[in-house]
Amino acid sequence: MSSTLDKNTRSLDELVADFDVVTSDSPASVADREALKAKPKFGTVFTDHMSRVSWTAADGWTNRRVEKYGPLLMDPAAAVLHYGQEVFEGLKAYKHADGSVWSFRPEQNAMRYARSAHRLALPELSADDFLASVAALVRTDIDWIPTGDEASLYLRPFMFASEAFLGVRPSLEVEHLVIASPVGPYFAGGVKPVSIWISQEFARAGKGGTGEAKCGGNYAASLLPQREAAKDGFDQVCFLDGAPEPAIEELGGMNVFFVHSDGSVVTPKLSGSILQGVTRMSIIQLLVDRGIEVHERRVTLADLRTDLESGQIVEAFACGTAAVVTPIGRLADGTFDVTINNGEPGALTMDVRAELTDIQNGRREDRHGWMTRLA
Ligand SMILES: *Cc1c(COP(=O)(O)O)cnc(C)c1O
Repeated sequence: MSSTLDKNTRSLDELVADFDVVTSDSPASVADREALKAKPKFGTVFTDHMSRVSWTAADGWTNRRVEKYGPLLMDPAAAVLHYGQEVFEGLKAYKHADGSVWSFRPEQNAMRYARSAHRLALPELSADDFLASVAALVRTDIDWIPTGDEASLYLRPFMFASEAFLGVRPSLEVEHLVIASPVGPYFAGGVKPVSIWISQEFARAGKGGTGEAKCGGNYAASLLPQREAAKDGFDQVCFLDGAPEPAIEELGGMNVFFVHSDGSVVTPKLSGSILQGVTRMSIIQLLVDRGIEVHERRVTLADLRTDLESGQIVEAFACGTAAVVTPIGRLADGTFDVTINNGEPGALTMDVRAELTDIQNGRREDRHGWMTRLA
């Protein structure tokens, strides 16, 4: 698959130059910034700036800029507040030992952003504009990128319907923004396996719905089941596809993999309601590179239970940009409750995790050309 970026005729420098940068009149002090970087709290602290592109049906995408981070002025009738017309992305910027700044397969995020936008009847942002809006912000706030083990700058592009109109139709005005938050290692005290509740009661997506789009609505649907599961002591919820003989899909924000005792690895096949994770597709490649048999197939709940109880499944893990790879130590659904690998992280799980984070942080050869230099 060739990405739109491969066909680039303009360099990233030229694309970034399309963005007008108006620097903040009240940036954090160097001392405050360094303190915040030293103890990053994911998603609560943001950098001094945000990048932004506006869209109208009449003029298309215009007004590319980087401006001071701050509250948005929004009309109470803005369509997003009523009908949820919104999509987002999540990726990271990594500062390597030589000071250069890189992102992991951002062209995949750009293409997925366009697909998500299409499903939500939002305008598609070009891959060039996507990458440039990310790079322009990263370059402006480059001093905010934490270094150190598994630290990075989390980037959150998002797009929403801003038109003040209560009629039900796609918005004629849309905003695309990118905000950034410094993050430390996801597992501060060492990688710890999570417990997963498989929900028979609630779904996050359904056939023909928006499960394959990265949109806020899917997350809204996952919050109640997540809260109920947390009450029962589970860390995360795994959702099913809602078919008569239900199959495993994914967690609220991560894809899942199962390692079998014969050495093969299984992950649910993309169904139209599973989010196509960049981490998922990259892990499949890394496993294939090792000569491991990877099966993308429908994983019914009944088969999963059989394979868990017979000990055929020896490791399980979830994956996504935020946590990279998270070992699963326990799976339950109300009729069964199985501990995997004595609740310890599996060897292959941790090995793949190390391989991926090493590539992202520039410590291992990037043999697939997955890294894109941002600054
Ligand atoms: C973002 C997301 C993932 C993980 O995707 P990555 O590209 O690997 O970060 C998985 N599932 C859902 C529902 C998501 O929103």
